[in-house]
Amino acid sequence: FSNLLEDAWLSARALKDYGENLFNPTIRLGVTGLSRAGKTVFITALVHGLCRGGRFPIFESMSTGRIATARLAPQPDDAVPRFAYENFLATLIEQRQWPSSTVDISELRLVIDYQRKNGSEQTLTLDIVDYPGEWLLDLPLLTKTYERWAAESLALSRQDPRARVAREWHAHLATLDPKGRENEQETLKAARLFTAYLRACRDEQFAMSLLPPGRFLMPGNLAGSPALTFAPLDVPADGTAPDGSLWAMMRRRFEAYKDAVVRPFFRDHFARLDRQIVLADALSAFNAGPEALQDLEAALTGILECFRVGRSTLLSSVFRPRIDRILFAATKADHLHHSSHDRLEAILRKLVEQAMQRAEYAGAKVDVVAMAAVRATREAQVQRGRDRLPSIVGTPIAGEIAEGEVFDGETEVATFPGDLPTNLQGLFRGEDTFRGLAAGSHQEADFRFLRFRPPRLVSHDPEGPALPHIRLDRALQFLIGDRLQ
Ligand code: GDP
Repeated sequence: FSNLLEDAWLSARALKDYGENLFNPTIRLGVTGLSRAGKTVFITALVHGLCRGGRFPIFESMSTGRIATARLAPQPDDAVPRFAYENFLATLIEQRQWPSSTVDISELRLVIDYQRKNGSEQTLTLDIVDYPGEWLLDLPLLTKTYERWAAESLALSRQDPRARVAREWHAHLATLDPKGRENEQETLKAARLFTAYLRACRDEQFAMSLLPPGRFLMPGNLAGSPALTFAPLDVPADGTAPDGSLWAMMRRRFEAYKDAVVRPFFRDHFARLDRQIVLADALSAFNAGPEALQDLEAALTGILECFRVGRSTLLSSVFRPRIDRILFAATKADHLHHSSHDRLEAILRKLVEQAMQRAEYAGAKVDVVAMAAVRATREAQVQRGRDRLPSIVGTPIAGEIAEGEVFDGETEVATFPGDLPTNLQGLFRGEDTFRGLAAGSHQEADFRFLRFRPPRLVSHDPEGPALPHIRLDRALQFLIGDRLQ
């Protein structure tokens, strides 16, 4: 019965959204990606570019002057935090520091007044919804029992290299009797050690994508709540938990996690998105080696599963996604010389195609782009012996170290990004690494992966400076260009 009620409620909401959209055309744009992919920077740059008028030659409605104004407006959802755009922008431009990253869902509304191609005046509302990609990877949990999830998580944690960082948690697990009485303190301890294990996996860059529950690493506003206080126990996958046992308690909380956390997120937020951009720090994955790359592909597959439409998808039991365009973007392309941007895009395209095959993906229109929402570097030719090498110049963040030098946050350096490999299979097998291809030495590779400060901007424009970017306009054209015709 409750399912019927939920269905009716969902249909009513879809109808209401549809009705509002008729009178007030709206796009709900989802921005996601795993932690540190560049979501916060992307949204800040996008909103600034739209409101101030960025240099966007490929974003047709803006470059031809059809966009009259874009302004912020109060967001529609009272229960969702507002994306702190003004603070983030000030941090970026005035302090030349990167803003703090996404840890929870947030939202921002933009209203764009433009002239249609037929000359009439029109308004488009753009609702931007920022949420951690980790949350998407929770979707498969909806079809799993506690026992199955526990068995799978344990099996994974007993394989190297994960087993190394799971020792402390495994030692505690061995002291627990699943059929013994429920015990809050032991449960808290198990959840803490399990979370530390997940975090260690993430920090050491392995199996990021195989680490649900996503909220354990990205708790949002739920940190410390019982729905997040559980952990796998060593129990048979087909067993039954005795009443009042530790096992029964873990199981109850796992179910609460699904009901109170996972399902509402998909129903209330994800289901209402029209367009989606998925950001990925592909360069870091190439640099970290084949496991990280496989992991990135697994994450992309997992993410695509969420967007798949059709009868037998996981989601059709929860709702039907209405997203009709998805853009996969490799971020931080300003770490490469422009001659490599097409290559980065080609590698991402191959990764996404493989993931689409694995997910048997069908549905929305998909595209890829290599971009930098905020370009922190500029290009130069640097003389090296008899060669002139294409290089990038930027200010490393204070405290970054390369070749024994500690940077002060003010000094500029020129680095040689080297060529990206073209052979994706070689990258996957670890034969061809990005690092290995750097002009001869690991030290230069280290240089290339220095984190740079945001750019120094000078402008006499009363509206302040525009932010430099790479291909942000292409992303915009794909994501909303067709709705500004
Ligand atoms: P989030 O966790 O997805 O919100 O990631 P952020 O947007 O906070 O980005 C994480 C970090 O990546 C930032 O602190 C920057 O160091 C870096 N970053 C993000 N976008 C760019 C970019 O366009 N260019 C450069 N050079 N660095 C970026």
